[in-house]
Amino acid sequence: MKRLDTTQPDFRAAFTRLLADREGDTARVDTLVAEILADVRARGDEALCAYTARFDRMTVTPDGLRVTEAEIEAACAAVPAPLLAALDLAAERIEAFHRAQMPSDLRYVDADGVSLGMRWTALDAVGLYVPGGTAAYPSSVLMNALPARVAGVERLAMCVPTPDGVLNPLVLAAARRAGVSEIYRIGGAQAVGAMAYGTATIRPVDRVVGPGNAYVAEAKRQVFGRVGIDSIAGPSEVVVVADGGNDPRIVALDLLAQAEHDALAQSILITTDPDLAERVAAAVATELRTLPRAAIAGASWSGHGAIVTVRDEDEAAALIDEIAPEHLELLLADPEPLFAKVRHAGAVFLGRYCAEAIGDYVGGPNHVLPTSRTARFASGLSVFDFLKRTTFIGAGPDALRRIGPAAVALARAEGLDAHALSVSARLDALGPDSDRT
Ligand code: NAD
Repeated sequence: MKRLDTTQPDFRAAFTRLLADREGDTARVDTLVAEILADVRARGDEALCAYTARFDRMTVTPDGLRVTEAEIEAACAAVPAPLLAALDLAAERIEAFHRAQMPSDLRYVDADGVSLGMRWTALDAVGLYVPGGTAAYPSSVLMNALPARVAGVERLAMCVPTPDGVLNPLVLAAARRAGVSEIYRIGGAQAVGAMAYGTATIRPVDRVVGPGNAYVAEAKRQVFGRVGIDSIAGPSEVVVVADGGNDPRIVALDLLAQAEHDALAQSILITTDPDLAERVAAAVATELRTLPRAAIAGASWSGHGAIVTVRDEDEAAALIDEIAPEHLELLLADPEPLFAKVRHAGAVFLGRYCAEAIGDYVGGPNHVLPTSRTARFASGLSVFDFLKRTTFIGAGPDALRRIGPAAVALARAEGLDAHALSVSARLDALGPDSDRT
């Protein structure tokens, strides 16, 4: 963990180093993923079965790629009732928030008499990647599938790796609850390739969404253009802003909650209180002694964690915007003034009681969020990832006479005569009396 202080002369250099790319060399992954995708295009299901045997240690035939209804039923029956109730509460809250996001169509007639508008329509089919290599993520099933359903997508195809053939029942229950249409027991780049290009068993989709490891992220980057993608999510990060009124243990647990995701995850505490900084550092060390995922969390905290001491909230706001964190917690008695100053963050958690983990599971907004400083230009998953806009223009004779001549002039200036003629021929046909038709 690095200790930074904005009053120190070397602060700028240290802060820049802290934000430097945590992803390292990706060249080997790029090449391997390109090979896997080419193979899936060439051999289809046969390639899927071969990579599943190799990477997930599971023998499967093309007939067995799709998870059966009986398996889904059995999984739902195996999930304890309190867990199903928790899943239901999460699903209801996520659905409600995403329903509230749904945009309205636009339609109006302007001063020239032209009728203009924009209509939102859902995609036909989306592919949901649910990670499952080293942990199972039922919450990610809900976060990916529910916005698609709310947006009106008909076909939801989900891929989830099943290492050693083990399917997580809660993942299947979440998929059932979220209205997923098809589930396939495959993962990695081969799953992304199957959803993008299609195989005999898996029909292609229009967009592939969802988080995953480096192979999944690179495969999404490589299939982009053939299909849409949501974003390329990297390792998780949190910035926690806390004042002296906080319990250091709770601040430490919030930092570790992010760190336990991945050794490459990044947790940063920003505070005006040097005493809190000391006590949080000590509390992190204490918690790491007992945390089950201490190996991962400890590697993240020692490699990428930081405690930054600042003079005031303005300084904190400037640093937050520079980091553009995926998650931002404002553990302050009144978080609103600082919240108002921050412009770049994927998701913000307001007040001492709102742990970031609330947003991971049950808050309502999506937990698939922009990482690695991409919150400067990107946003979290939402219904907009499953909708597209179609604009339309309607012009009658009067409107054409008003705006058509300018189109003719511009088309001629561009040397596109057919464009110009397509308008002027209509104007000619209208004749001088068209205003009264
Ligand atoms: P995963 O499903 O992303 O990857 C597993 C697959 O990777 C395997 O099926 C295999 O096909 C492929 N693979 C593994 N080793 C390979 C190799 N050597 N060569 C080629 N392919 C290989 O599961 P994971 O590995 O557990 O990673 C999940 C990731 O998703 C983590 O980084 C986690 O932090 C992230 N995640 C992010 C969010 C979010 O919302 N941002 C949510 C959940 C998980």
